[in-house]
Amino acid sequence: MCGIVAYIGDKEAYPIIIEGLRRLEYRGYDSSGVSILNGDIHTVKKKGKVQALVDAAEGVNLEGTIGIGHTRWATHGKPDDINAHPHNSGNKRLSLIHNGIIENYSTLKKALIELGHVFHSETDTEVLIHLIEEYQTRNNCDLEEAVRLALKKVVGAYAIVVIDSQDPNTIVGARKSSPLVLGIGENEYFLASDASPIIKYTNKVVYLNDEEIVKISRNGSFTIKTIGNELVKSPTIKELDLKLEELEKDGYDHFMLKEIFQQPTTIAESMRGRINADEGWIQLNGLERYMKRFMNAKRITLVACGTSWHSALIAEYLFEELARIPTDVEYASEFRYRKPIVYSDDIVIALSQSGETADTLAALELAKEKGALTYGIVNVVGSSIARITDSGSYIHAGPEIGVASTKAFTSQLVVLTLMALRLGQEKGNISEGEFRELLQAMEDLPRRVEKILELNDKIKFIASEIQESNHALYLGRGLNFPIALEGALKLKEISYVHAEGYPAAEMKHGPIALIDENMPVIVIATNLSAREKIVSNIQEVKARKGIVIAIVKEGDDIINEMADYTIEIPGTMETLTPLLSVIPLQLLSYHIAVMRECNVDQPRNLAKSVTVE
Ligand code: GLU
Repeated sequence: MCGIVAYIGDKEAYPIIIEGLRRLEYRGYDSSGVSILNGDIHTVKKKGKVQALVDAAEGVNLEGTIGIGHTRWATHGKPDDINAHPHNSGNKRLSLIHNGIIENYSTLKKALIELGHVFHSETDTEVLIHLIEEYQTRNNCDLEEAVRLALKKVVGAYAIVVIDSQDPNTIVGARKSSPLVLGIGENEYFLASDASPIIKYTNKVVYLNDEEIVKISRNGSFTIKTIGNELVKSPTIKELDLKLEELEKDGYDHFMLKEIFQQPTTIAESMRGRINADEGWIQLNGLERYMKRFMNAKRITLVACGTSWHSALIAEYLFEELARIPTDVEYASEFRYRKPIVYSDDIVIALSQSGETADTLAALELAKEKGALTYGIVNVVGSSIARITDSGSYIHAGPEIGVASTKAFTSQLVVLTLMALRLGQEKGNISEGEFRELLQAMEDLPRRVEKILELNDKIKFIASEIQESNHALYLGRGLNFPIALEGALKLKEISYVHAEGYPAAEMKHGPIALIDENMPVIVIATNLSAREKIVSNIQEVKARKGIVIAIVKEGDDIINEMADYTIEIPGTMETLTPLLSVIPLQLLSYHIAVMRECNVDQPRNLAKSVTVE
């Protein structure tokens, strides 16, 4: 959550920082701010979007070649001008931006107040700048050392960047459990929460590790130290494989719509080089390396949050059905706090688009401690989960900017399905014929998704019919039950409509009481197994005057007759249905949100990458 960007070099810092903040705005957008160093530190910060900051900065002298910027997702203290970052030291010498949570802030604050520090904001962050100031003045040391000493006292998660007006040739950054990337350009350096503000200038980056402090000097050098004061010798410089165009809207009204329409390509990308239907093989390098371990595993546990948790639920069906390995799915936040039983022959798979989700990272640490094999399925290359897991597979969906996840979800499903199929094959649970048939069906998926996207106008019409409803119920069975949950989550996230997903059979145990002529019920009925049962569920809804929107397989005349609206999608093998049935639900929530005039790409209160617990 929250976007950090900092610059030092020979160009004007302010425009680079503002452009970077706009690229990072998807990470947090309740307020933003900049500090530019030019003799003194000049800080402007403002509640609202980056544009509000730009308006507020109009006429302010923000010239200078070193500066820091922040777009906030508030954890402590409401979003307002004062709580916005940067926060400056009492002596006005230092300025700091922070992503994360300082858990022991109240103890530190009390001690600092006793020492005479005056606080202005309600944030946890402000203790950091007073603490650094305290060490700097007390020890008469440089900024890097003051930051190091201060961080030794801090409990919690942070990515920070600090500047010092007495040392205009230096920027200091540090991280623990929140991402921070160093970009190395020609006579210039960048620090940012992810690579998106950096890529325009350089593709050379260093991903900082936990408890590392980087000191960048204008003379063209940088050093990395640990908080324990050990120098990191020859840090790994990586080359980014990211194109600037991937970060643009490409003519679409919203990133979310672009990302929904990218799915034929992104689904193909997540399979590329990993599957060949003609030759009949699947190969995921991360899996092959640990195949023996997977074969001997008594259990797989999937940990995730949000949309990723829904793809994990589908994986549970697939791993158990195809690979016959007992599989559990856990909310990462619950798993880590409830003393779970983890055996050393367990496999813990973590799913996260950003690869930075704080709870998922913590769950992995716990699994590692217990000796389980950890496997990461993430989108962002080089992210923390990718780095701390024993093995894993990238989903290769490309940057996902829309806060509501769409293409990352389908790409996660592709990777999970490939894993389940490969494991099932290795275990001898799938016949050669069935295996090849499934591979063929997988390779056909992008074409089928394209056909679903052609239904966009029809889906938009259905959206217009139900856009005023403030509630919605999503029902599905089997593999389509998690899709019902995902459809409901998409609607909640971006259109603020109260929606619930249920296994269709559970309707009778409660939700049916909600059904009346104002309740849209979206029934996902693309799977053939238990079809008769879902037909009965539709009848039950109709008998109570509910509005039925059914997602069905092409040619399903029976449901077509019964439902108020039907969205017919191409058939595929049962195992793969979730990959198709989710697409119309993404479009439905998108259109409803647009019609309700909601901010689709930056829904209120949400942030893309949940790096706080
Ligand atoms: N905890 C800090 C605050 O509330 C930082 C939040 C963020 O990561 O944006 O200001």
